[in-house]
Amino acid sequence: MAAVPIKPAASNNPAEPPRTLEQFLAQQREIEQLRFITCGSVDDGKSTLIGRLLHDTRQVFDDQLSAVATDSRRWGTTGEVPDLALLVDGLQAEREQGITIDVAYRYFQTPKRKFIVADCPGHEQYTRNMATGASTADAAVVLVDAEKGVRVQTRRHTHIVSLLGVHNVILAVNKMDRINFDKSKFEAIAGEFVAYARKLGVQNIEVIPVAALTGVNVVNRGTATPWYTGRTLLEALEGIEISRQDGLKELRFPIQLVSRPDANFRGYAGTIASGEIFVGDEVLALPSRKSSKVREITTADGPLERAGALQAVTVVLEDEIDLSRGDVLVHPDHRPTLARTFDANLIWMGEAPLLPGKRYEFKIGSRYVRGLIDSIQYRIDVNDLSTREAEALDLNGLARVRVALEEPVAVDDYKQSRATGSFIIIDLLHFGTVGAGMVIAPAAQAGRASTDVVWQPTRVTAAIRANQKSQKPAVVWFTGLSGSGKSTIANALEQALVQRGHHSYLLDGDNVRHGLNKDLDFSETGRAENIRRIGEVSALFVDAGLIVITAFISPFRADRNRIRERLGEDKFVEVYLSTSLEECERRDPKGLYVKARAGEIREFTGIDSPYEPPIAPQLSIDTSKFDIGATVDQILRYLENRGFLHQSDPGL
Ligand code: ADP
Repeated sequence: MAAVPIKPAASNNPAEPPRTLEQFLAQQREIEQLRFITCGSVDDGKSTLIGRLLHDTRQVFDDQLSAVATDSRRWGTTGEVPDLALLVDGLQAEREQGITIDVAYRYFQTPKRKFIVADCPGHEQYTRNMATGASTADAAVVLVDAEKGVRVQTRRHTHIVSLLGVHNVILAVNKMDRINFDKSKFEAIAGEFVAYARKLGVQNIEVIPVAALTGVNVVNRGTATPWYTGRTLLEALEGIEISRQDGLKELRFPIQLVSRPDANFRGYAGTIASGEIFVGDEVLALPSRKSSKVREITTADGPLERAGALQAVTVVLEDEIDLSRGDVLVHPDHRPTLARTFDANLIWMGEAPLLPGKRYEFKIGSRYVRGLIDSIQYRIDVNDLSTREAEALDLNGLARVRVALEEPVAVDDYKQSRATGSFIIIDLLHFGTVGAGMVIAPAAQAGRASTDVVWQPTRVTAAIRANQKSQKPAVVWFTGLSGSGKSTIANALEQALVQRGHHSYLLDGDNVRHGLNKDLDFSETGRAENIRRIGEVSALFVDAGLIVITAFISPFRADRNRIRERLGEDKFVEVYLSTSLEECERRDPKGLYVKARAGEIREFTGIDSPYEPPIAPQLSIDTSKFDIGATVDQILRYLENRGFLHQSDPGL
């Protein structure tokens, strides 16, 4: 068997070894823990880099290593050098089995620090996992392939990381061996990246040339980059200052659980997000605004007089005020904004686009509230950070939005408080997470801190009304001879639409001729005016977000075309029921043809008044050839294929 040409590296961090178990445990407790996230595109070498970190810091067992050596001869892509990616990818199999786990966390340790790495898959559709990993990270290691340089994905990841408040970003320019450790190429990539990250406001940026495969500048320096005088990746990770506490000094205690083991004890359990709480403190619950005093603070280790940020505690109050999961306890003089509306930075992760006006569920802290995105103020182009107007936001899109909720919630600026300043958006149809948001200074918006923010809604637009109804409004305009089936099909179509959760309105002779158009006769001008008014009413209903269905003979092309022009081509679906005169006369459902032939009705369409068939209708159906169900199906299919019908929302 060939020798494994790799040896566990000597630790570059010799530390005083502990002599007793107590000493060891005490030392362990004192060691700081750094949480970091790795992000990069597929094939940038993320797995290899993490494998290298684990290996060179001696986290890998010998048996794991020899398995990798064997596997890499069989499967690897690295020739004689063991493919350390197999080590990490092997662990990854665990993750792939457990579909609920989005992010794989790995642990390793040096004498200086403990590390938790959130390893997030690099595929485009996994931005969601990345945001999950970044939301608790102290630092991010962004990987690029030295041959490929900074890519859209690199920018997007860096942007998300910065939005989520990660202040330390390390760019690892990997595969330096492939570019012969070329200093100037490295510097070009570094320059481009630093400029971008600075624009985002990232506080600490470091760029390191590495070759994860052979280990250059990961844990050990090596000799390949004599021109590089900076830190290795591990040194950089060990040197990052950890400031985990939120900027907010005031008490925010989101209640995660109401524990009521017996009638006498009601405790509110959760982790203190910021500030501190003392027994005897006057506290206020939000959003209910009920107040009480702290009677006891308990923990798994016994009672406390005081508890501070990041401590998990149960608080017992003096009074029986009814609080529930998701409420926040604060000090009355330092309350957050209670807001229904606020601005936020948003990362969209849904397969279906974000639509303003559509109803979603928002989870803020441990509270669930329904609401909507009132407007997209602008979309951000990750390439150059320019901003654009947008009516919708696609997968991986970043934007500044205004959120409008159905109930007020206690919120802080995300920069001050991750716990009370961030939220996720949940789709009401499939309950998947479709967005993550960071609140922007709601108090500043209101002009005064600590007051309730009143909703100043953006004007409700036609698009908002349409999105709210999950459909693209239009008129389905039936035309054809009397008896061709317009009323019958229109009614059946409306029924089918309503069953699917759509919002419609059927205009026909009954509800128009008897009311709005009562004053009109059947003269030529009367008929033209009848159709004109129907067109105007349809236009209003379309603006209201409805799918309007009309069933009128409307024999003249010019009248119909005027309405098409009035509404716009994309909102006018002309359905010609081309059933022949013979068939209509044979059906004669209202006995009108008989009367017309007998001369009792004058100027009857088809008999002594012309019918002008459409020249290019969207649909043309002969109802003597298709039954009612088949005709309705054809129309529904057309509407679906042209995007008029979004998936309906059962949560409404
Ligand atoms: P219009 O509104 O065009 O004057 P109606 O819907 O009032 O026409 O009348 C159409 C008549 O034809 C109804 O009595 C209906 O039951 C009958 N009919 C038979 N087959 C069909 C079909 N495939 N589609 C529509 N109507 C049909």
